[in-house]
Amino acid sequence: MKQKKCIIIGAGIGGMATAVRLANKGYHVVVLEKNFRPGGKIGEIKKDGFRFDTGPSLFTLPSLVDELLNIGSTGDVPSFSYHQLDNVCRYFYEDGTQINAFEDPAEFADEINLQTGEPRKKILDYLKIAQKRYEAASDIFIFNPLNKALEVSKKLNPQKLKPLMKVNPLRTMHGENKQHFRSPQVVQLFDRYATYNGSSPYLASSMLNMISHLEHNSGAFFPDKGMYSIVEAIRKKAENSGIDFLFNTEVKELKISDTKVLSVRTNQGDFEADLFISDVDVNAFYRKPAASLKAPKSVKNPSLSSSALIFYWGMDRSFPDLEVHNILFSADYREEFKSLFKTRELFHDPTVYLFISSKTIKSDAPPGKENWFVMINVPPLGDRNWEELKQVARKNIIEKIKRVLKTDPTPYILFEEVATPHSIQEFTGSHKGALYGNNSNSIWSAFLRHKNQSTKYKNLFFTGGSVHPGGGIPLCLASASIVEKVIEKI
Ligand SMILES: Cc1cc2nc3c(=O)[nH]c(=O)nc-3n(C[C@H](O)[C@H](O)[C@H](O)COP(=O)(O)OP(=O)(O)OC[C@H]3O[C@@H](n4cnc5c(N)ncnc54)[C@H](O)[C@@H]3O)c2cc1C
Repeated sequence: MKQKKCIIIGAGIGGMATAVRLANKGYHVVVLEKNFRPGGKIGEIKKDGFRFDTGPSLFTLPSLVDELLNIGSTGDVPSFSYHQLDNVCRYFYEDGTQINAFEDPAEFADEINLQTGEPRKKILDYLKIAQKRYEAASDIFIFNPLNKALEVSKKLNPQKLKPLMKVNPLRTMHGENKQHFRSPQVVQLFDRYATYNGSSPYLASSMLNMISHLEHNSGAFFPDKGMYSIVEAIRKKAENSGIDFLFNTEVKELKISDTKVLSVRTNQGDFEADLFISDVDVNAFYRKPAASLKAPKSVKNPSLSSSALIFYWGMDRSFPDLEVHNILFSADYREEFKSLFKTRELFHDPTVYLFISSKTIKSDAPPGKENWFVMINVPPLGDRNWEELKQVARKNIIEKIKRVLKTDPTPYILFEEVATPHSIQEFTGSHKGALYGNNSNSIWSAFLRHKNQSTKYKNLFFTGGSVHPGGGIPLCLASASIVEKVIEKI
């Protein structure tokens, strides 16, 4: 029988994972990638002895990467190792409070109790609820196609579904957190999980409070060679599986019949295949290469997730008070999210995320120095002058660091690289630089996410962070396994 051919558009993690799964099912897979390298939003910079992961830095559910690397029977599993972080994140507040989010729930509860007076039982109960919610929801909403949600839920033990019945989906994450905890600092700490898919805790459904389970019960990890080593390991696996990568190859147009995609036109020529899988941000896909296809409403008027402004600083000294992951919270979280999603402006007192991989990977910076990844959430691209905004944001960030860490970082910055919504859009192809496709600021968000298969074009499928089940590395890997399941059924 003739081997079926499959084209994957985009070598982001979702595209590569789908490629590996289909190649191991016997398809001839070709990946077309517009950039010179794979990884999409997962990138790295190397400069003057420093190495920076440029995109994702929080790594949860590493077993999903292991599972992918072990697929098939080649026996040749690329090496990929990681370690668990004892302290998931150090939180800093303007009033001087600091909280170490220890990985061990009991230790975390003790620390919160010590720093804020919040009863430790409240923390442990909250994490238990998050775990039960995740366990009930994951089969239905994360590891299966959305149109199978009802079917899957019918097969589950009704006892397992109980935690979902208790969720009031109309209540927001913040509303639920505020009711559960007394301390505003603890509320803010758990509200922050809304940003893990680019949303607002004041708008997103309380259902999403289960996200904290991933860090605090399952654990936060870090790859021993940095986040980009995830991409390198999957690329190796893909090559071992016989997948062809064509880099610098941009899909410009889809050629279609009434019911099928026939071929794609690229700057390197036309490619025909039996199946086509897009890993391109879905909002960008329908605007450019697939402009001739009818876009769904959620794409025509997208409610975008946040974008980011990131400074990569090579620092001339080390800072013992900092951890791998650090958050310097805004004093007015509600106003910060209003700026992100309503007025769409930069906020003068932003929450600053400071990530230093050299704390755990010594070779990521020269001895005695550190690689600082300094990020704030910003609205996606609008009609704005990012060159000017970059300078305003830099000043706000430095003031924040001076106030909260009681140190001026400026004299220690050896060099600076910057990512803006504009550069994120240019390099990764995400519409307006939104990090996670559409946001989850509505109770219907999960149901409105683009599905993994086109309803009209039977050989067109979708993977990656902008489609079901959502953004972030674990969910992209889940989307690849869903696409595999859907294709198996056709
Ligand atoms: C700054 C930042 C921080 C993040 N932090 C985290 C985090 O801490 N933890 C976490 O889990 N996730 C995080 N994420 C999200 C995570 O990185 C993404 O959800 C995930 O990497 C998206 O993968 P994807 O499969 O959707 O593909 P993408 O990474 O979106 O890649 C799409 C690929 O398609 C290519 N492409 C686009 N158009 C075309 C075309 N026409 N022809 C050919 N190729 C094309 C692009 O060049 C790109 O390589 C972060 C993202 C960013 C940007």
